[in-house]
Amino acid sequence: LKYCTKCKAPTGIYMKEHRLALCKEHYIEWFETQVTYAIKKYEMFSRKERILLAVSGGKDSLALWQALSRLGYEVNGMYVSLGIQSDHYSEVSKQKCLQMAQKLGRKLHVVDLAQEMEASVDELSEIFGKVCSSCGTVKRYFMNRLSLEENYEVIATGHNLDDEVTTLFGNLMRWDETYLNRQYPVIEARAGLARKVKPLVRVYEKQVAMYAIVSGIDYIRNECPYSADATSMAYKENLGRFEADSPGLMRFFLTNFLKSRKEIRKEQENIELKHCVQCGQPTLNEVCKYCKMKQKVREWRERQEKRKKN
Ligand code: SF4
Ligand code: ZN
Repeated sequence: LKYCTKCKAPTGIYMKEHRLALCKEHYIEWFETQVTYAIKKYEMFSRKERILLAVSGGKDSLALWQALSRLGYEVNGMYVSLGIQSDHYSEVSKQKCLQMAQKLGRKLHVVDLAQEMEASVDELSEIFGKVCSSCGTVKRYFMNRLSLEENYEVIATGHNLDDEVTTLFGNLMRWDETYLNRQYPVIEARAGLARKVKPLVRVYEKQVAMYAIVSGIDYIRNECPYSADATSMAYKENLGRFEADSPGLMRFFLTNFLKSRKEIRKEQENIELKHCVQCGQPTLNEVCKYCKMKQKVREWRERQEKRKKN
């Protein structure tokens, strides 16, 4: 048993990487201070701006929603219903988001993939194979479109420090310069795209989980059945082992990487975007990825129907 550094109350919460013991209340305060620090350090947004947060029903996005609301920011949620049947995953996760919206007195926008694309994620996995990359494409597309329609200036996501380090590690291993250059907790607004921010970039996944538990957040414990590919899972596990051996290592790695990025980011902002000839959304190509996917889904349906007739 340890004692809270602030109030000396006995507590089980001890963070090795910070050599810091805190009681529940002071932990909540500490966590929210970390979020504030990231918002200020990377100049993410102000209290005057309207923020749209991607929520999945998991601990990260719901913890972020609550923390930002408690800190006085105006944040509404957006949930994409993917139509995943296994363990009623989509239905349960949507309920968790609706509950949180009610608790915070905020709005939850729900976008239904089946209605938008006439296919569920289960079907996308059949058509495209790599389901997480198609899922990512449609979620980004819906976020961008909704932020434009509803005048949100900022799009936030619940990526935590472990997520960011895992991505960074993967991009380094492949030496993928395009992605390395793009990795930053803030991507400035351009060509009709809202600013993108990751306010949990300074906190470890286990710290987010602790915040969710001590502040009584009800989130979905199951992982998405398609959950991230095996390679990045393996990276995450191994990085966790390095971290356990030298507490603070992951944080050090990410913070120093981000320090070195400042100049490169400026060049990135100058890349010009076009507008998709089909849907008008910003894109690098004539037709955006989403519209291309939609076309493939249509063709797949037609083939299915022909087969049925024969
Ligand atoms: Fe989508 Fe993959 Fe995440 Fe599941 S794990 S929600 S399929 S990106
Ligand atoms: Zn398009």
